[in-house]
This record gives sequence, C-alpha cells and structure tokens, in this order.
Amino acid sequence: MKTNQERIEKLRADRMLDREDFRALLTGLSPEEEALLYKEARSVREEIYGKEVYLRGLVEFSSYCRNDCYYCGLRRSNPACQRYRLTKEEILDCAKKGYDLGFRTIVLQSGEDPWYTDEKICDIVSAIRKQQPDCAITLSIGEKSRESYLRYFEAGADRYLLRHETASGEHYALLHPPELSCENRKRCLRDLKEIGYQTGCGIMVGSPGQTTDHLIEDLFFMKEFGPQMIGIGPFIPHKDTPFRNRKGGSLEDTLHLLAIIRLMLPYVLLPATTALGTIDPWGREKGLLAGANVVMPNLSPVSVRGKYMLYDGKICTGEEAAECRGCLERRIEQTGYRTVVSRGADSGLIFP
Ligand code: SAH
Ligand code: SF4
Repeated sequence: MKTNQERIEKLRADRMLDREDFRALLTGLSPEEEALLYKEARSVREEIYGKEVYLRGLVEFSSYCRNDCYYCGLRRSNPACQRYRLTKEEILDCAKKGYDLGFRTIVLQSGEDPWYTDEKICDIVSAIRKQQPDCAITLSIGEKSRESYLRYFEAGADRYLLRHETASGEHYALLHPPELSCENRKRCLRDLKEIGYQTGCGIMVGSPGQTTDHLIEDLFFMKEFGPQMIGIGPFIPHKDTPFRNRKGGSLEDTLHLLAIIRLMLPYVLLPATTALGTIDPWGREKGLLAGANVVMPNLSPVSVRGKYMLYDGKICTGEEAAECRGCLERRIEQTGYRTVVSRGADSGLIFP
C-alpha cells in the first residue's frame, strides 16, 4: 500500500498515475498532504516557468449563442441574457488597448454566433495580425468544421481554446442537449491540434453530475491528448439556467485539480480563471500558488462586460482594462510571482 505522500512523489516523477492512485489523491488527502501537493506543483511550475505569470487579454465579442448548454447563462433559451455584438473596429480597438497595456496574447471569445461568418472571423483575425504582428491570437468560439478551423489558422490565428467539458459521453449528455455530443467536441480538439494550433481543453470543476470517476477519465483524456493549455475553473450556477439550484464547484477541489494537472503535465499553460476569482476573493492568487501560471484579464469594453454572464457574480465587470491590469498586477505581486510582457511559451521551444 502506498501512502498519499508516495503517490504525490510518484506523480511528480512519472507524470502519471494509475486509476486507483488518482482516486486516492482525488478523494482523501489530509491538510498536510494537500499542502505537500501544492508545494510540489509550485516547485515544478517554478522549475519550468520561474516566477513568471503570463497575461492573456480576453475580448468577449458576442453574447449571442446558438447552443443551449444547460449550465451557461448565454444559452439560447435564456431570454434574460442581454445580447450584444462588437464590431470589427471595436474588437481591433480592444486588441490595440491590450497591446499598449503589455498583452502579447489576445483571446477572442464568444458564444457560438453564426452572425460572425468564417469570412468575418478571418477578416478580424487578419486585421489583428496586421495591426499587431508580434501578438499571439487565440480563438475560443466553439465547435466548427475542420475546414473553418483551417481557414482561421491560415488567416493568422495560432491558438484555440475549447474546453472538452467532460471526457465522459454519459456525463456530457447530462450537461448538454442531445444535439451536442462529446464525440464532436473531441473531434474538434483533434482537428485543431492536427492543423497546428496550440490547443486548450478543460473542464468545469464540480459541474452537476460530476463524479470522481469522471475526473479520472478527464485526467486520462488530458494526458493522452497532450494539450498546450488547460482551462479549469469551478462550475458556478447561473440563475436563469436549468442548473440554477445546483451546487457550485469548490475552491479546494479546483486548487487540488490544478496542482494534479501541473504535476501530470508540467509544461502546460494553466490559467487561474476568473471563475476561481469569483468564488473566492483571492481565488486566482491561490490558483497561482497551486500550480497555475496564466491569468486572463478582461479587455472587453466596460459597456458590455456585464452582459457576458456565463455564471452569476462574475468579477471585474466594472473596471476599465487598464485598471484591471494594474489591480491584477498588484495582487499577483503579493504571491511572489510577477506578470510578464510576452507571448509566453510557444510550442516547439518549450514543449519537449
Ligand atoms: N462558446 C464557447 C466559448 C464561451 S464559453 C464554448 O463554449 O467553448 C467558455 C467556457 O465557459 C465554457 O467552455 C465553460 O466551461 C465555461 N462556463 C460556461 N458556463 C459556466 C458556468 N455556469 N460556470 C463556470 N463555467 C462556465
Ligand atoms: Fe454557448 Fe459556450 Fe455557453 Fe455553451 S458554453 S451556451 S456554447 S457560450
């Protein structure tokens, strides 16, 4: 019988565990073992990334969505969601502001909004590429055909975030209506990676119906897929969705998973998410101290911030981008880490 300390050491050394060892780590750590897990995750993160925290500037450019995910405030069946679309000029303006504030990665995120045809997306991407040639452009606009992904890539997009949400088909069906499938989500991720994007998958921690077995399946999926980024944050109920009365994910469970993922995939880019900062006033900073190495402050115009409500209580909806940047920088300094002006970790250089 292994002790949990031995399991943590084994995970660090082998970057993988079997199902039963993962189960033990996911279910029964004492406070001392939990502290050891974070310490090991921090140490691995510092070996690779030092004290640096990468910044990604997030532009939430449309709150329209054709999908109906049960957990999300932007779902099409939510009449209370305030819908907006940013123009190309507004998006370029946000990207420029971000650049001036030191962001070298711009993330364009939205609901799945067919108003932005492939042609429009390509036009926006190539305009940012022209305006800021040294910036990484990340898209997070949902499930598309391989052909569309290829077109965006050729227009200049280099990274794509598409959380797989859960690797289990049965759990996926609890979170989504029948027209959405786990197979298609995974197909998208494979296409993105094959095309050459730096690809990000991820899950919500504590989403309705999630079991330890599902989490183990997620860890196996992440290991096998080998993403460059993993976005994880707690599930937070939204008052106008079918999951309004469900329990949200906890800070502890999210930190715990961040640390396990850091040990399993030492080089991965791991954001301390806004959702984590929403459930705890120091959630993002605690995330950085449990192995995360990226933060994604909001660059969207303040006039639309409060309309992109994936979940209730989302933080940072009132400040201008510059204030957000300054505030976050001061907060991060308190962890002993520091933000850097850099595209951060391009594949090939840093992913062995
Ligand atoms: N439409 C795109 C991008 C926007 S949604 C897509 O779905 O990929 C981005 C992420 O927000 C989702 O992947 C989901 O994991 C997360 N999200 C949605 N609703 C949430 C909620 N209630 N709590 C926490 N995260 C949520
Ligand atoms: Fe749309 Fe994404 Fe929300 Fe699903 S999670 S409803 S695809 S914005």
